[in-house]
Amino acid sequence: MEETQLQTVERQLSKGVNRLRFDRAIEELYLRDYTEHRVRRAPIWALVGTFIYDLVFFGDATMVPDQLDALMLVRFGIFTPFAVVVTFLAMTRRNARDYDLLSLAIVLVGGALPMLVAMHSTSEDLFTYQTGNVATFLFLVVGLRPRFPSLIAGLILLSAIHLTICWHIPSFDSVTFQGLVTFYVTISIFLGLGAYFQEHSERMNFLNCLHATSLHQQLQWQSDRDELTGLLNRRSLVRIERQLWQSVESCAVFAMMLDIDRFKLFNDVHGHLDGDDCLRAVARAINNSVGTSASVFRFGGEEILILMPDARPDEAHAAAERIRLAIEDLAIRHEGLSPPGVVTASIGTAGGETKDLTLQDLLRRADKALYEAKKQGRNRVVPALAPLERLAAAGFAVNGSAS
Ligand code: GH3
Ligand code: MG
Ligand code: MG
Repeated sequence: MEETQLQTVERQLSKGVNRLRFDRAIEELYLRDYTEHRVRRAPIWALVGTFIYDLVFFGDATMVPDQLDALMLVRFGIFTPFAVVVTFLAMTRRNARDYDLLSLAIVLVGGALPMLVAMHSTSEDLFTYQTGNVATFLFLVVGLRPRFPSLIAGLILLSAIHLTICWHIPSFDSVTFQGLVTFYVTISIFLGLGAYFQEHSERMNFLNCLHATSLHQQLQWQSDRDELTGLLNRRSLVRIERQLWQSVESCAVFAMMLDIDRFKLFNDVHGHLDGDDCLRAVARAINNSVGTSASVFRFGGEEILILMPDARPDEAHAAAERIRLAIEDLAIRHEGLSPPGVVTASIGTAGGETKDLTLQDLLRRADKALYEAKKQGRNRVVPALAPLERLAAAGFAVNGSAS
């Protein structure tokens, strides 16, 4: 039997979130949710990030004035258009892997470019200037928040590029350089560890929400269904009646009342458990024979109601005939019949506009037609007679004069 979503989620809950990864089906759902959230926030981070990045131009002017022209080109001519393109790509591609790669691209380019220019400066403020790069680390971990492996790759690459550039700055002696290494390695470890726990909590939250939603769906499904057959129950009939009869526009509704022939005898001869199996098989056959627009209810013991909104009478009649044949084609032996035969069903049908008749009227008419089908010998579809036809059938002339 196929596992339900609730079972899959519960299995994952009992396993936990090992190594920040779910089993395949849940991982797919998580990645969809992850991408949607990250992409929705991408324009905000892009706007604020680029604005602050460009604002640091005032810092360039005070700390590395000898490289101002090149830095202006870097900030406004290269990085800003690059950020626009990357944000556009993240929003249009909408998948987790691309989002992670684009996040890395933006922080690596953003972090490296000004430092590559500033390293040629003779300014005495270069040490102060390079501290600004911490913002890039924070932007990656707090703002963009790619998945953990990408985030760790980003922290390592950012540190490596930054420290390599600092290594080549002549005014930084070895003590300064060692201090920088200690600082960037330390913040990378702290940020990486924090990001791990953050993603772990995010995944656990996702799993708990998914569990609540799946549980709710399953309970909803169960409260709408009959336990034995899985068909809709009488409670759902009230809901669907409300939907159809209280909608502003009137619509044509077709009802089929189906009853299994000689079913009491079937139970007596084959036993109730086989009777239950037979009911389940009949329910499946009906569900397979009608389209998704039809609603199939277990109306009573072995009476099944099929409601088809917006169906034309010829379509509905053809569907009823299809159902009757599908049940006969199940070829379930009925040894109680003489001679022994197969399980069959009789169907009474009735249709009308919701503005002209209530559900009770419709069911009463379908039930009468079903009674007629039983009377005519069972295993057949009988449509309800229109009022005039009913008079004619009772022996009255329908054109004004009694016969
Ligand atoms: P008819 O052709 O006139 O319909 O004859 P019938 O024997 O089918 O008569 P009726 O429809 O009145 O019989 C209903 C029987 O359905 C009575 C009961 O034994 C059986 N039944 C109702 N619900 C269940 C069920 O959940 N499981 C089983 N096994 N039998 C059921
Ligand atoms: Mg019955
Ligand atoms: Mg019956």
